[in-house]
Amino acid sequence: MPSPAFIFSHVRIFDGSGSEPFAGEVRVEGSRITAVARDGARVPRDHARVIDGHGGVLMPGLTEAHAHLTWPTSVEKFVPGMWLPPEELALTAARNARILLDHGFTSAYSAGALSKRLEVVLKEQIDSGGLPGPRLVASSVEREPPNDGALDPGQVDEHGRGPASVAAFVAGCKAIGAKAVKFLISGESALKPGASHELLYTEEELMAAGQAAREHDVWLTGHAHAAEAVRLGVKAGFRVLYHCTYADEAALDLLEAAKDRLFVAPSIGIVQATLDASPPPHFDMTHMKEDAALVLAAQKRLVPELRRRGVRLLPGGDYGFPFNPNGRNARDLALWVEHFGYTPAEALHAATALGGEIMGQGEELGQVREGFLADLLLIDGDPTVDVSILQDRRRLRAIMKDGRFHKTPDTPAMAWV
Ligand SMILES: [Zn+2]
Repeated sequence: MPSPAFIFSHVRIFDGSGSEPFAGEVRVEGSRITAVARDGARVPRDHARVIDGHGGVLMPGLTEAHAHLTWPTSVEKFVPGMWLPPEELALTAARNARILLDHGFTSAYSAGALSKRLEVVLKEQIDSGGLPGPRLVASSVEREPPNDGALDPGQVDEHGRGPASVAAFVAGCKAIGAKAVKFLISGESALKPGASHELLYTEEELMAAGQAAREHDVWLTGHAHAAEAVRLGVKAGFRVLYHCTYADEAALDLLEAAKDRLFVAPSIGIVQATLDASPPPHFDMTHMKEDAALVLAAQKRLVPELRRRGVRLLPGGDYGFPFNPNGRNARDLALWVEHFGYTPAEALHAATALGGEIMGQGEELGQVREGFLADLLLIDGDPTVDVSILQDRRRLRAIMKDGRFHKTPDTPAMAWV
């Protein structure tokens, strides 16, 4: 007998395209969607278990475009600060991977790690079926030039200045198996006043990074607030740029011209969380909150403009800080509706179909379509009406990744036919 198939019946299907959900059925065999039926048609029923969706919405799994599985704090466990001993860090990252999947994120594009090799080995453990977690584009440490700051997640031994040392870092990332290589092209004002406007690398260094990335077939990912950081990031061939907060007209033009090869993730979750945080008295967030207000105001203008120009924009919000825990990732979708003028369906399209594209698998991931990988969520309710329901994991009745249930629907109607 062939391996059993699953049929999701009595569901409304949000296929990832951004159009309205439609009534239909979906058949899954092995790791793939093999049939999608609509308008009262039925998918083939041979050797299948039928799951009664009770009218819920079946949709593609979500992608987190700015993931930090090694940033310690999660919705399950508060960690005061960023540093953990290596043993705790490894287990915490594995736990965070499971937490993202528990919350409907079947894919994650890493924005950098607190360990050189941890994400690479974590990805192998997930992909070999031994640990629950999303599909992962793994990264190494975030790279910034040598400095004496206390909050320096990118501090590693081979740090050095100059194009040769930057290119060597990229080659080293490839050698350990990382796919995404993260640079802080400009600094971060939330951590150091004014830093968002300072370039951390020279043009020569960034061009050397780009050249090395092309040679070694890795993807460059950049933290870029300053206009010049955005411009240089595009010129150097970065594939993903985060924030882009202070992009000027010239930077916008460059982003638009490169829209077929790059992605922008504004990363608004961390900004809203900063504004919302009520820290203990000994922790002064005044400056961080002032900066967050500026960033939010700029992003509210920037994102609609980038969208108008056809740039691919994705949710994902730097979750993992003590006041912005891993597991809260779906909040970004509601923030996009609130701040950026997206409808819920448009925000979901960005987190699903565009998610497949940023993962490098746009032709087989992120949509409910025949032949696509079966990363599916069965939702109690309709997130295209109210996207905030995705923040309640109890509303995720089923979570399927690669054709396997991470969370099985507790429906008595699930039966063999
Ligand atoms: Zn980040």
